[in-house]
Amino acid sequence: MSGPTSPEEFQKQMQDFLQKQFKTFGTPGFTGAEPTDTVTQPEPEPARADFDFDYKPRDVKTHLDRYVIKQEEAKKVLSVALCDHYNAVRQAFDGEEQAHYTKQNVMLIGPTGVGKTYLIRSIAELIGVPFVKADATKFSETGYVGGDVEDLVRDLVRQADGDVDRARYGIIYIDEIDKIASSSEQQGGRDVSGQGVQTTLLKLMEETEVPARSQHDMAGQIQAMMQGMRGGKKEGDTINTRHILFVVSGAFAHLDKIVGRRLKESSIGFAAGTQEEVEGERVLEHARTPDFIKFGFEPEFIGRLPVRVVCHPLSVDDLEQILKSSEGSIIRQYKQSFAAYGIDTRFEDDGLRRIAELAIDEETGARGLMTVCEKVLRDLKFELPSSRVKEFAVDAALVDDPGTALETLLANAPEQEDNEVDNTLKQFAEAFSGQHSLSIKFTDKARKQLTRLAKASSLSVYEFCKEHFRDLHFGLKLISKNSGRTEFELDESFAENPDSALSEQVVASYKNKKS
Ligand code: ADP
Repeated sequence: MSGPTSPEEFQKQMQDFLQKQFKTFGTPGFTGAEPTDTVTQPEPEPARADFDFDYKPRDVKTHLDRYVIKQEEAKKVLSVALCDHYNAVRQAFDGEEQAHYTKQNVMLIGPTGVGKTYLIRSIAELIGVPFVKADATKFSETGYVGGDVEDLVRDLVRQADGDVDRARYGIIYIDEIDKIASSSEQQGGRDVSGQGVQTTLLKLMEETEVPARSQHDMAGQIQAMMQGMRGGKKEGDTINTRHILFVVSGAFAHLDKIVGRRLKESSIGFAAGTQEEVEGERVLEHARTPDFIKFGFEPEFIGRLPVRVVCHPLSVDDLEQILKSSEGSIIRQYKQSFAAYGIDTRFEDDGLRRIAELAIDEETGARGLMTVCEKVLRDLKFELPSSRVKEFAVDAALVDDPGTALETLLANAPEQEDNEVDNTLKQFAEAFSGQHSLSIKFTDKARKQLTRLAKASSLSVYEFCKEHFRDLHFGLKLISKNSGRTEFELDESFAENPDSALSEQVVASYKNKKS
């Protein structure tokens, strides 16, 4: 084969090559034409009528309340919109499609880290539909805008484990949508290319057929062809986007100015006394279609996003509440990861408050909580699993000075009882014997000596032994090779200084071997 000059060329050459190969080996029923021609294909299946949905808006809101703190209005509006959408999908699957139904695509407005994605992801999980998130800013990078955007739909199939039917009613979430606004009125707009992306997205949001395999996905194309040759069912050729729900989101910096200006210019709804109400963050709740058009969206594009929801910035109290009561709180994660090492972690109220206060300074909403916890608990996560510390409390003092708190914890770690240490030494010897096919035993004196040394270390006894006898197996294997011994009794000289005791015995084993 000569070198392909384009993806299409490569694909053609690959097809020819594979067809030749299959001909050579006499694939039954294969004639070398379009591979699927020769195999009787089942009739395309009608849309499956097995989509079950019987949630009420209140059920969805109750579910969201377990995870998402605040954003009450957003939760209500989304619960209603999502229930409407999936009722419509269910009716369509039952063959009772509503005439002239307008899809409830959603626009979420709000700063970063306040729960926009979390809301939608939680709903997708509740309903059991595939969910894909992408960033609008990447849509122009590759140069072929359309290809990129359609990949989102194919990603839904991947999220649905290849089930094209489920992908047809998944949720596509596109963040940073404000970055594809084309107006020069806000910074960061991308004029013509932004308009192009909007048009492409609009096509997807309305209704279009997306090929299940990308033109640019060579492996996928070949796989599909081979599947056809084997007589397998041709995987859904196209994915119709009619029932896919689109959610877009963005911070929409400066939109508040556009809305504020309009409100000021309009005498209606801006009578004396209401001015204060619509100032600050609440201004965005008054955003209307003309404001979004001024911001840089095409009227047709914004018209396809009828559900608009504002998510508000989170306060210190909200962040504290997230830590304390959200079922998705990262505190649970930290507790679990320490528990995996047998360490019990208590988060005190003043510690949680302090974490929330520090997180606010990060200015990334609830994401700041992770940043702060990560920084505060980093060294503890590294040191404590190997130590004798079995419990600790995260209080304000620890959050403010984790280094000193760690030192104190290690210094005050409880000592193990002699018999516990003895048991651990036995376990270590057994594990060592199993791992290296060499049996080791400690003499009584060695055990006493190791107990003393282990107790003086800040490490747990087992970790101490691992560290103390790091190179033991190398030396013992040499001795075993020279002498044929596979059982070793280790005395107090090994306990005190394993490296020097080992060297002496290795040297002796070489001498004995020669003589
Ligand atoms: P964005 O608003 O930028 O989409 P996310 O929803 O992705 O932010 O939030 C990031 C993470 O912060 C979430 O995964 C969640 O753990 C936490 N989080 C954000 N907002 C809230 C909230 N209101 N309630 C509970 N957790 C939240």
